[in-house]
Amino acid sequence: MKKNLFIMLLVIISAIGLSGCGNSKKVTKIDGKYNIVATTTMIADLVKIIGGDSVSVQGLMGPGVDPHLYKASAGDVSLMQNADMVIYNGLHLEGKMGEIFQNINDNEKLVIKISSGINEENLIISEDDLHDPHIWFNVLLWKDAAKVVKDGLIELDNMNEETYTNNYEEYMVELDELHEYVKSRVDELPEDKRILITAHDAFEYFGSTYGFKVKGLQGISTASEAGTGDVRELADFIVEHEIGAIFIESSVPKKNVEALQEAVEARDFQVEIGGELFSDSLGSEGTEAETYIGTVKSNVNTIIDALK
Ligand SMILES: [Zn+2]
Repeated sequence: MKKNLFIMLLVIISAIGLSGCGNSKKVTKIDGKYNIVATTTMIADLVKIIGGDSVSVQGLMGPGVDPHLYKASAGDVSLMQNADMVIYNGLHLEGKMGEIFQNINDNEKLVIKISSGINEENLIISEDDLHDPHIWFNVLLWKDAAKVVKDGLIELDNMNEETYTNNYEEYMVELDELHEYVKSRVDELPEDKRILITAHDAFEYFGSTYGFKVKGLQGISTASEAGTGDVRELADFIVEHEIGAIFIESSVPKKNVEALQEAVEARDFQVEIGGELFSDSLGSEGTEAETYIGTVKSNVNTIIDALK
């Protein structure tokens, strides 16, 4: 009997020790909610869905903001320093913020890189030998990202493990449905018409997952400008393949795509601007594209309707 009591005590003590361990980092709850900072709109959306009512999510970048070029302000840095957890994409998406994450990480804060949960063999290597960071356009990879967020939230707050797990599982079903929706819309388009030309190379994961040939006027980062050679080459390609539409992106100035359209016209061929795609940021609040699911649907609808 005494022995049992002793074991029970040990179990209780170690349980307290364990839960204490998970929360050894300084926690600054706001209105009883964990205070989480996410970089992009896609990640903020994901954390809100998995975290539900237990978290307060602050996104650094708003709709239409280009993460490749985004520089953190002093206010952003202090938001991150005061957060319970910081979540970012990685793979150089937040190209000007790498050092900041490193510094905050050194500070023993929970810093989560969602791309760390994606199997390397599923990552696309771009022409400049870097991993392509635009993982969210393969809906199946975004499921992996959701798992990283769920695991991070449980590490921060294991008391609510069940809530996070339930939210995650419900979202998995929605993402599976989304994946099927994209495939069914793509099926409407004859294979030889599945060519997607946009402002920058954000859609390679979309292309490889759903069977599109993809060309971006700028590379995988918008940090490098498109040259006149790129415009000429792509204009020839459009004429040769009689492509009916090209697309602007909400987070990239449209002037390059318009220059491409003019170059095509100069070759006596008409290509229309098929609409605006949401590439590196979700749409504005109050629009269909304000969520990740809405953005993916809006994009595939815009693409298929314009190319059909
Ligand atoms: Zn991009």
